[in-house]
Amino acid sequence: MSYKNPHQQGNKPWNYSKESRTKGCPLCARILPWSAFGKSAKAKTGMQTYCNECRGQRQKRYYIENRDRVRSIRAASTSKHHARVRWKDCRNRARRRGQPVCSYELFRDWYAAQPLVCSYCDLPEASSIVQFGRRLHVDRKETKVGYMPGNIVLACPRCNLTKNGYLTFEQMREIAQKYFKGGINA
Ligand SMILES: [Zn+2]
Ligand SMILES: [Zn+2]
Repeated sequence: MSYKNPHQQGNKPWNYSKESRTKGCPLCARILPWSAFGKSAKAKTGMQTYCNECRGQRQKRYYIENRDRVRSIRAASTSKHHARVRWKDCRNRARRRGQPVCSYELFRDWYAAQPLVCSYCDLPEASSIVQFGRRLHVDRKETKVGYMPGNIVLACPRCNLTKNGYLTFEQMREIAQKYFKGGINA
């Protein structure tokens, strides 16, 4: 497409014509009826600079060229939301039990660095939702230490329930790896 800038044709700005009710689009260099332009309260002409078709294409191209960026921004905000919800849950539990809980900032950093799998049986979160209808829990290695980084791990509901304060982290990991992982009991 040859680029012809309607600005430079010596006519009115943007090739805006009241008489013929048309305007030029600097991107596709076409002279189009006013109806081919979106409204703009900021512009003197009351219309967007580029025609609707060009604006649509630009938006589409932006999404295609930045698909990964757009997606990762969306994923990051989802994960941040989950971190917030989980931290609040831990804080409430800690309050009830009179146990310590770390700050949200520490929790968020810890959570961002976690692979979303059960620390005992390696079950991914997506499978936990399918099998148990629940996301992974935040479990404490040592119950008394509370929700502090270094003491918290992600656990599926089955491992969390089985451990139940009676088994150590290492014992539970051994049992889950032996009996829960990927087998018939999974
Ligand atoms: Zn155009
Ligand atoms: Zn598990």
